[in-house]
Amino acid sequence: MSNIVLPILMLQIIKLPLGPIQTNCYLLADAEIKICVVVDPSGSAQSIEKVIRKEGWHLQAIWLTHAHWDHFLGLVALLEKYPETPVALHVLDLPLYQAGGGARWWNIPIELGPAPRIALEQVRTLQVGAHSAQVLFVPGHAPGHVAFYFAHAQALIGGDVLFAGSIGRTDLPSANHAQLLASIRAQFLTLPDATIVYPGHGENTTIGTERVSNPHLLDASW
Ligand SMILES: [Zn+2]
Ligand SMILES: [Zn+2]
Repeated sequence: MSNIVLPILMLQIIKLPLGPIQTNCYLLADAEIKICVVVDPSGSAQSIEKVIRKEGWHLQAIWLTHAHWDHFLGLVALLEKYPETPVALHVLDLPLYQAGGGARWWNIPIELGPAPRIALEQVRTLQVGAHSAQVLFVPGHAPGHVAFYFAHAQALIGGDVLFAGSIGRTDLPSANHAQLLASIRAQFLTLPDATIVYPGHGENTTIGTERVSNPHLLDASW
């Protein structure tokens, strides 16, 4: 009799750069039980729906890292396809969300989404099927910014906090540079080097790479 080795089922992560500034939307799935979550529906709901349909997944929730318009531009259209799906947001980003995420500064028309049903300030962990994510509070780029950390998958869905070679903008209203750096130091740089950062814009990176090469984190004065 041979040993049967069961494959370790990983969290499945699909990245879709969407919308006018190619903001990364992520589909996170427990493929075994066919449950998925959409993080930051940043554009074409059709593109998101296409993946969900093709994979045969059930959409369980929509999580927002923060409420800048480019991270929820496709939210209302996605909810039309998947009504009653709960939306998660931190309360400190609610005013930004209700104001259209700053879309008006850029003359971008945006439909306002429904009231969030999952209040992220009250939640320490979230589930995608069998996969647990810690909700990390990382204000600075936006006052209610959160990130989703899947320790067993070594995956950090980071939003606009830390990018490959860069960090989130803090020249926007209600942003705070010192707070952003403090968030990165306390919540991100304490994670293992192998952790893959899935950012809100651009290519993936790792905590280890950014720790030793990100110019914003090498400045000794912070
Ligand atoms: Zn942002
Ligand atoms: Zn963004």
